[in-house]
Amino acid sequence: MIDPFEPYATEPYSNFADPRTRDGFQAELESVRARLGQEWPLVIDGQRRTTGQWLASHDPCKRDVLVGRAAAAGPNDIEDAFQAAQRAFESWGSLPMVHRARALVKLAAVMRRRKWELAAWEVFEAGKNYLEAEADVAEAIDFCEYYARQAMDLDDRLETYPYPGEENTLTLQPLGVGVVIPPWNFLLAIMVGTTVGPVVAGNTVVLKPSPKTPIIAGLFMDMLDEAGFPPGVVNLLTGEDAVLGDALVDDARTRFINFTGSVGTGMRIYERASKVQPGQGFLKKVFMEMGGKDAMIVDETADLDAAADAAIAAAFGFQGQKCSAMSRLIVVDEVHDALVEKVRVRAERLQVGDAEQNADVAAVIDEVQHAKILGFIDRAKPHATLLMGGNAGSDAGWFIEPTIFTDVDPDSELAQEEVFGPVVAVVRARDFDHALQLANDTKYALTGGLFSRLRDRIERVRSEFRVGNLYINRKITGSLVGVQPFGGFDMSGTNAKAGGPDYIRLFLEAKTVTERF
Ligand code: NAD
Repeated sequence: MIDPFEPYATEPYSNFADPRTRDGFQAELESVRARLGQEWPLVIDGQRRTTGQWLASHDPCKRDVLVGRAAAAGPNDIEDAFQAAQRAFESWGSLPMVHRARALVKLAAVMRRRKWELAAWEVFEAGKNYLEAEADVAEAIDFCEYYARQAMDLDDRLETYPYPGEENTLTLQPLGVGVVIPPWNFLLAIMVGTTVGPVVAGNTVVLKPSPKTPIIAGLFMDMLDEAGFPPGVVNLLTGEDAVLGDALVDDARTRFINFTGSVGTGMRIYERASKVQPGQGFLKKVFMEMGGKDAMIVDETADLDAAADAAIAAAFGFQGQKCSAMSRLIVVDEVHDALVEKVRVRAERLQVGDAEQNADVAAVIDEVQHAKILGFIDRAKPHATLLMGGNAGSDAGWFIEPTIFTDVDPDSELAQEEVFGPVVAVVRARDFDHALQLANDTKYALTGGLFSRLRDRIERVRSEFRVGNLYINRKITGSLVGVQPFGGFDMSGTNAKAGGPDYIRLFLEAKTVTERF
């Protein structure tokens, strides 16, 4: 079928340096502030319900401010959500692809109209500054627009070779009911992308957002209604991991699990999903996008100012709470001291403060992450040189100073484990070969980068730097949907490549029909 939609283009960003734009966004923050503290129900089969149990979501920058309370689901809600998803699948799964694709384009339009409102909620719920918040909403819109178009490419019969006397067709059909488990860091974008990808293919889902950011999920459900999605296609279960996690993964009706999160949780889900439950009768498919220990290499030919700018953006943007964040800076000895000094000067200039004031570096997501990150810092102090930071900031929220360690042992915890906070490990390499070897010496393989002017080195990293997303002479964060399909290798996951041309195909199975005439 010919693509009925206008050509795909990524959503533009606002220029918050312009005072009028900034004032406009601050007015939006005020109007969302008036809605903080509300209660947000579960949504099952299109019906809102509360349970008497609540999950509180607080502003990371002002820990006393309640962003909202989300209903905490229990076993009955899980049962009802699966039943609703199964019922909805009967009709949703048999619709023409274009019907569902249009629903995604409509959802994108709804989100676009509410872009700043959604971004303002993200400022409060996740501590994102203006640009980070808006970029997350833009990415959610991009996922809808891009997947709508990708789905259309899978609508027709796939190509097979002709054979005399027969007709052979190869067509795709959805899997059934799936469970979607996103993280809190790209609270709207990843939640939307991992939901609408399977949904456009005809599947129905039970969505279990992170208990750290449940309110944005309530807004998402409102927008699905506004866009006209039928009841039961997406069912929202907010609540505690201890109640929901294993129960959803283990359920005999779960055909697939679309997970993004840490390697620890991912491994648990992977293992449990492999067990065939009584009455199951199929193997569960699992798509696991997990963590990173992402490195940027800087060699002696690099533009050191450009490299330092990129390092700062990739390490400290959204407080380093990105799977793609630069957590290792591997610098060739010859330029090590010069580059580190440039990075230090820039990092000292970063303004730490409230996301609402559009600070460069705001608070980390919650008390648990705060303690975890400070634990990494404390354990590193005896073994590495603390160049700057290393402390908690104002106790109004979960602040941590931008922190840089130098002389980091490449085998140490700080150089091997994902910290997921504003902490950089600088590792000194003898030369470029050594730097590349160090960069690859990790169980993760998500993002990586090189700053160099030498063509032969650039060509070498293209083939030898083992990461799913490699960036040359730019920052290693900020992938765009459809432009830089995203996902890693090894313990970074199953390489679903979100925002890539093969993504929707994951949630479909192929059927071959042969008729002899
Ligand atoms: P997490 O593993 O703590 O949680 C991820 C999701 O799993 C959440 O919804 C959580 O509630 C849920 N969960 C927790 N325990 C569960 C259980 N037993 N069963 C089922 N679900 C369970 O991760 P997080 O802190 O939310 O997110 C940060 C992590 O996500 C980092 O490791 C980061 O690198 C990774 N991440 C990866 C990508 C990627 O594309 N590769 C993107 C963003 C984040």
